[in-house]
Amino acid sequence: MSGRAIVQNQFDRAADLINLEAYMRKILISPFREVQVEVPVRMDDGRIEVFTGYRIQHNGARGPCKGGIRYHPEADHDEVLGLATIMTWKTALMDIPFGGAKGGVTVDPKKLSKLELERLTRRFTQRIAIVLGPYRDIPAPDVNTNAQVMAWILDEYSSRQGYTPAVVTGKPVSLGGSLGREEATGRGVMYVMQEYARDFGIPLKGGRGGVVIQGFGNVGSHLARLLDSEAGAKVVAVSAVEGGVYNDQGLDIPALLAHVAQGKPVPEWKGGKRVTNEELWTIPCDWLIPAALGGVITKEANAKTIDCKVVVEGANEPTTPTADIILEERGIAVIPDFLANAGGVTVSYYEWAQNLQQYRWTHEQVNRELKATITKAYTSVRDLAKEKGVTFRTAAYGIALQRVADAERLRGN
Ligand code: NAD
Repeated sequence: MSGRAIVQNQFDRAADLINLEAYMRKILISPFREVQVEVPVRMDDGRIEVFTGYRIQHNGARGPCKGGIRYHPEADHDEVLGLATIMTWKTALMDIPFGGAKGGVTVDPKKLSKLELERLTRRFTQRIAIVLGPYRDIPAPDVNTNAQVMAWILDEYSSRQGYTPAVVTGKPVSLGGSLGREEATGRGVMYVMQEYARDFGIPLKGGRGGVVIQGFGNVGSHLARLLDSEAGAKVVAVSAVEGGVYNDQGLDIPALLAHVAQGKPVPEWKGGKRVTNEELWTIPCDWLIPAALGGVITKEANAKTIDCKVVVEGANEPTTPTADIILEERGIAVIPDFLANAGGVTVSYYEWAQNLQQYRWTHEQVNRELKATITKAYTSVRDLAKEKGVTFRTAAYGIALQRVADAERLRGN
């Protein structure tokens, strides 16, 4: 079975679970609107380089489309479409009033100067602005984009439309961003793990093998910090693109964060044994958390050998569909991306609401609401998975599909 066929198969399993009609399956699987743009950028040496950008709105039945923008050499139409689709299920599962979208520019931002990055962002914003708006489509940060990039998008959009902070989320706090947004995805992953740990008897504190995290960017580094400081978990290994570090007694996370804050690579830190990105997958642990890029747990590379009790998908689409089936056969639970990493979009919703109301929440309020929202979603997935005897992924899909289908029907489809 091809990868594409298995994706369809996953969707069909969930659609069968909720007895979805054939025409509604067609509506829910296909994108609402796709925009592809050329992005010419004046480089510092005077040349013009032309990049390709995408903004894909998968579904907006439940509210304005919502989803991040990534800058990556491998960002292409299929990747952006897949990520936009996940956003539809994620916002539906969290029961927040958004649809799903994603954007991307095929570029290696590490090769650009800061000014080139700003010019790229402004040009890309000009070209997709026609489909953006606080009630239409609201971008946010994703891989290789951050609060500064969101500030440029806000400025570019507002220069034509008037001051519009609600057109992007994940902004700097001083420009209307929400307290707690930056750490929200990692915090949400931790809340889901705490619930799972209690329900399934896999302790976070004092477990056999601890936690392994691939990726030490926004998601991975905040997650490591919070697991260490708030959940009392033992984080035994982390990695970044240059490689990783491992200490079976647990890493000194504050010291590692201080090392990275000085601009030094993770594997050069002396508080653990250096491991390659391939070796990371062989470390025995209770919780394995891919928090870098998609497609990293595969049939060929590691699905048959990884040695953990639970895979928690911090990244989007880290497990290929074939690997997913292997993990299921091996009895390794997978907490799917659109549940595990939904904390970011949930706090983005709070940011958008704060912008529209021009009223600021405290950090405590943000965390309290996030915990309540993501725990409710987790509980509904756990209960449906138990009732129907299906995986967390199928149950989560089932709930999300049902909500989007209900909205489509109420709108007359
Ligand atoms: P980021 O750019 O801040 O960090 C990415 C991290 O992955 C970096 O530490 C990088 O060194 C590492 N990395 C890259 N390639 C690697 C490799 N081959 N091996 C090991 N490490 C590697 O990105 P982020 O915002 O943390 O996003 C990570 C993932 O989480 C993505 O899949 C993203 O779509 C998803 N996600 C992010 C958010 C968010 O709020 N930032 C929300 C939901 C989902």
